[in-house]
Amino acid sequence: MPKMILLLFALTTVAGQAAQAPSLPGPDPRYNADLLLVVAHPDDETGGVAGYLARAIYDHHRRVAVVFVNRGQSGGNAVGAEEGNALGSEREIEGRSALASFGIANVWFLDTPNVSSQNVMNSLERWGHGAVLEEVVRLVRLTRPEVILTWLPAFVAGENHADHQAAAVIATEAFDMAGDPAIFSEQLVRDHSGGQSGEGLLAWQPKKLYYYTDADDALDFDQDNPIPSPYRENFLDGAGPQYSLTDLPPSQHKSYAALSAQETSFYLTQEGRIGKEAVESNNFKDFEYPLRLIFGKSLVGGSVTGDVFEGIAPGSISWRSISLPDEDKVRGVSLELGGPWKFYQEFWKIHNIEHLADLLPVPEMAIRSDVGYLHFSLLIHNNTETPQEVTIRSALPEGWTDKSGYSSYSLAPGQTYPVRSVLAPFNTSKEAWREIKWSLQVNGHESSSVTMRLHMGARGAMSP
Ligand SMILES: [Zn+2]
Repeated sequence: MPKMILLLFALTTVAGQAAQAPSLPGPDPRYNADLLLVVAHPDDETGGVAGYLARAIYDHHRRVAVVFVNRGQSGGNAVGAEEGNALGSEREIEGRSALASFGIANVWFLDTPNVSSQNVMNSLERWGHGAVLEEVVRLVRLTRPEVILTWLPAFVAGENHADHQAAAVIATEAFDMAGDPAIFSEQLVRDHSGGQSGEGLLAWQPKKLYYYTDADDALDFDQDNPIPSPYRENFLDGAGPQYSLTDLPPSQHKSYAALSAQETSFYLTQEGRIGKEAVESNNFKDFEYPLRLIFGKSLVGGSVTGDVFEGIAPGSISWRSISLPDEDKVRGVSLELGGPWKFYQEFWKIHNIEHLADLLPVPEMAIRSDVGYLHFSLLIHNNTETPQEVTIRSALPEGWTDKSGYSSYSLAPGQTYPVRSVLAPFNTSKEAWREIKWSLQVNGHESSSVTMRLHMGARGAMSP
């Protein structure tokens, strides 16, 4: 407290008059955002998402803030020799410059390692899940967004970066936690008298949550040109709103696609050349695909395919604790996929975004052509009252072999046995979709099974 106010306070008290406390400052409005984008790497917002941000900013005068969970320091460098943390420092500047071209200045970079993997658990573990969640909750409370937009928290062939998925997991958790006064409560302590405890933030409940993914079969632009899956098409149809990028914002003289190309052109260490060439040739066809968002959840109504801001009115809403689903344990003896697939089944349920399980009912992943053995985690559950002897059989594509050490297992009543299935693929250089099926045999009969679809020979795929 300034000395003058202290002095006045002392004088009025001495004089016995009622002392008027200074008015309490509110949250600093310079940091308010209508939309908070939470992504993993600088350049995760390029392409369609940048086109959507241009629409939100120029047409609808929305304020946008961005959180990058790291600097993409493990990526490649298309223009210079810099690698590692030096590359990360460059990518931070590329990100700040790209977003500044849209007038976005509220941009935060967190300090996590850039993990190259497809398994979301690897990123969450290496990042320090709790510490990053605390940071993102802090930034949600600081920016007080109506909407959070992030990557899709799911394991999808084509959307295979574990950092992307982990950013999505943490953004979803922060959506549910930032309004809860019992979570990271030290951020909420307001010690206006100049004390050193607390951060002076207010709890904040965002209103809507949306996702996006790289794995969109409807795109005719894709840097890795994956072959379409024979098993699914346009799995994003009806999953959320779609935005054309060929429109012209009324206030600009360029299409959203042109603005998106311009934004992308700052990322020269990455794919910025595509944006730069589009700007130089005035040909934006690589940026003219529609952006397809995936509806996560809304606490203020609105429809699944309606506009992102549909149903949103200014002001705060009260925190909604998530409703925990009933535990639906499968009875009998059963088999399921473990690892990230098991995690997502539980994560979607706990966060009331269970409809994401319907996007791709059969699990899938992309495998690059130089893969060695493939390892999958399976879980055998014995939810019966008696011990069980079971056998796992795998049905594999032609030429593949099963290298798992064991096939028969004994389970006590109530036990879950984690099993590692090791497979040696054959002819992985040919780009193709393949299917694997594991079945659980009890007393010579199949009691349950798990199917997995693999996009073999996928360019751009992370290691499993
Ligand atoms: Zn990325």
